[in-house]
Amino acid sequence: MKQGIAASAGIAISKIYKLEKPSLEVVETTANVDEEIAKLEAALEATKSDILAIKEQSIGRLSDEEVAIFDAHIAVCEDPEFVDQIIQSIKDTQAPAAKSVEVVSEMFAGMFDAMEDEYFRERAADIRDVAYRLKAHTLGIKIPNLTLIDEEVVIAAHDLTPSDTAQLNKQFVKGFVTEIGGRTSHSAIMARSLEIPAIVGIGAFLDEINTGDTIVLDALSGNVYINPLPEVVSEFEQKQKDYAAYRESLQVLVDKPSITLDGRHVELAGNIGTPEDVEAVLENGGEGVGLYRTEFLYMNATQLPTEEEQFEAYKTVLEKMGDKRVVIRTLDIGGDKELSYLKLPEEMIPFLGYRAIRLCLDRPEIFRVQLRALLRASVYGTMAIMFPMVATIQEFRAAKALFDEEKENLLKEGVAVSDNIELGIMVEIPATAVLAEQIAKEVDFFSIGTNDLIQYSMAADRMNQDVSYLYQPYNPSILNLIKMTIDGAHKHGKWVGMCGEMAGEQMAVPVLLGLGLDEFSMSATSILPARKLVTELSYEAMQKLANQCLAQVSEEEVIALIKKEVSFD
Ligand code: PEP
Ligand code: MG
Repeated sequence: MKQGIAASAGIAISKIYKLEKPSLEVVETTANVDEEIAKLEAALEATKSDILAIKEQSIGRLSDEEVAIFDAHIAVCEDPEFVDQIIQSIKDTQAPAAKSVEVVSEMFAGMFDAMEDEYFRERAADIRDVAYRLKAHTLGIKIPNLTLIDEEVVIAAHDLTPSDTAQLNKQFVKGFVTEIGGRTSHSAIMARSLEIPAIVGIGAFLDEINTGDTIVLDALSGNVYINPLPEVVSEFEQKQKDYAAYRESLQVLVDKPSITLDGRHVELAGNIGTPEDVEAVLENGGEGVGLYRTEFLYMNATQLPTEEEQFEAYKTVLEKMGDKRVVIRTLDIGGDKELSYLKLPEEMIPFLGYRAIRLCLDRPEIFRVQLRALLRASVYGTMAIMFPMVATIQEFRAAKALFDEEKENLLKEGVAVSDNIELGIMVEIPATAVLAEQIAKEVDFFSIGTNDLIQYSMAADRMNQDVSYLYQPYNPSILNLIKMTIDGAHKHGKWVGMCGEMAGEQMAVPVLLGLGLDEFSMSATSILPARKLVTELSYEAMQKLANQCLAQVSEEEVIALIKKEVSFD
């Protein structure tokens, strides 16, 4: 048995298709410069038409975001900086075109590799993907065509590039496992959209397997079994059936409201990072977007996104969500989230430093651009805006003042702006939770960010593995802070959501429900299991359970109480 990262849930039992890519080693000899440039040009055209063909095949099978990756690949082929450097290198070295493709693409990919931000590191994979195809064409070597697979298989590969993944036909490809990669690598993202089980980052294992071997891919736990005993196969055949039945049973809940047995309605919403994430939220029956982390717009760029770029993104999300509410969080940068193009001061404790609303209020020229883009987009749907990391009422007032000023400016310019944008804050700092009742008079809503609230309450850095045992959502201290926030808001008729990871945890749902949480925002795939649970619970019973939990002294006791009271799938 081997273990990797379960990147796309499910179980696959099948024969292995070992994807071996021919090595495109280039023997360095001198070559005729004009001929090599001609070869490069022909190869660029052939590569573009390959990518176009793959793109065509992927339309309808992949999300718009993933299909757009192929436009990015074509853009690499057409990028004058990239192409000119290859031509220059052919001229300088008089080596075969393939060598120059290798050297120049590695130089570009290496630049992306060196970046801190995971998004940019993934761009390196895009360049290598294009370069591999381009090199093969300059050398006249054929690369394997996954579209030709016509029997059920699980693909085992060192890595799968976006173009490999797009070629996979779900009818035959039952899953894949790769030696490298993480949960946010492109192959993992695509596997989730294709809804095929996938395990990534399993480590070197290709030498131990052959095409035709039997494989059990347990992408619920991340375990892989090669040529397992018949009893293991039967065990997983049963698990596979159970899992399919479970997901199927959830489908009936897609259009259902989230109402408890005794009639309390809560809103189950989705967290998104990009406009493309909206599809998954809707497919999984999300009743709104409870957190749109706009910093990804800033992180996925090489400079501050313009008002127009931001406007387009916000408008897209609002339009896709129709009349469902979209809570957009203003820029939350700093802490573990950096911008390569915006130098922030070195800090001893970045999470306690210059970040989020603190930075935005200090740099209003950046903040105002976002506020204008949000205001302009507000007429395209139901928008709510929240400010991250608010510690004092003055911060909220200052942010609101800038918002009001920009609203005034736009109205003077004759630009239409919605009149009912709710303005709220994230409750991520214990001081804010403690003062919730007073703060609630001025805000329209709260959204509890437990990822930060827990790290600040327990004084335990959320990035530090050594203190991760202190990430305790069920610690009664945290539950009491959540209660203070909810009660404080409700006293003034305001609603409270939660968008930290805790909101999507099955075990947390009963207690949060009992504490009176109005909105739960989570990753799309957690929505239906949460809805199932809500519809099976009684609000009154959960209120009792929550009260008992609040009175405990340790997380263990709280967990034991929940498990005693509620049965989970
Ligand atoms: C949180 O802190 O719970 C939260 C949702 O914000 P982020 O994880 O982006 O800091
Ligand atoms: Mg946070």
